[in-house]
Amino acid sequence: MRLIFLGPPGAGKGTQAKLLTERYGIPQLSTGDMLRAAVAQATEVGKRAKAVMDAGQLVSDEIVNEIVSDRVDAPDCAKGFILDGYPRTVPQAIALDRMLETKGLKLDAVIELKVDEAALVRRMENRVAETVAAGGTVRSDDNPEAFRRRLTEYREKTAPLSDHYARIGQLKTVDGMAGVEAVTAEIEKILA
Ligand code: AMP
Repeated sequence: MRLIFLGPPGAGKGTQAKLLTERYGIPQLSTGDMLRAAVAQATEVGKRAKAVMDAGQLVSDEIVNEIVSDRVDAPDCAKGFILDGYPRTVPQAIALDRMLETKGLKLDAVIELKVDEAALVRRMENRVAETVAAGGTVRSDDNPEAFRRRLTEYREKTAPLSDHYARIGQLKTVDGMAGVEAVTAEIEKILA
């Protein structure tokens, strides 16, 4: 099973991807998590990405295309994977199409979580409050200014991907405003 989750920051992509990893026994490939790990380890990629991520902007296509291509080759991806936060631009989607073709792999579905933008800021604030209450570290881009920028980046660069995948008949849209379990049930119906 090879899936892509599309949707703005706070739409619930990470939550749903995590639930599906258990159901299908395939890993969640979050480019945001991979980049945050690179920043934490101060690798060359991490050093290049940090300021861009903190500002809520997108890291270059070249960097993310390469980390995803390498990650997909790992043995735990043999049965499939769930892409969360990638692709995020039309050139990334085109690079992914080519990468999968070269590797002889096909996508099963692209699932878009549709959400009301006003709810997204509230979700981000709740995520920050829950992280603080649990004694965790708040993401450096989970603040109002960077979050607004992330939403703008989404609208300008990522939202056009829906058309890209609709044109090739792979787009499935789910109401992301429903509760977590209802959204999971909708996704499972699509994948059945
Ligand atoms: P996320 O955890 O998916 O919200 O991503 C956090 C940040 O990592 C984004 O705001 C970008 O700066 C960067 N990032 C994650 N995935 C990508 C991607 N596919 N393309 C470019 N930048 C990305």
